[in-house]
Amino acid sequence: MKLNREWHLLHKLPRDATLEERLNWHALHAENCHCREMPEAIRRELEARGWTAPTPRSLR
Ligand SMILES: [Zn+2]
Repeated sequence: MKLNREWHLLHKLPRDATLEERLNWHALHAENCHCREMPEAIRRELEARGWTAPTPRSLR
């Protein structure tokens, strides 16, 4: 698991973030950083909206 420090500095998730903000943040996070797993509930919600997890192949 690698932490993308630069990305995190640019993308802070507010403590009072809405669900939409959380979903957006986690979708971006999954594509840019791997410091932690996406919560199951978030992943399901994103997939229900047509988001697909990036494959290892698509990541640098
Ligand atoms: Zn991260």
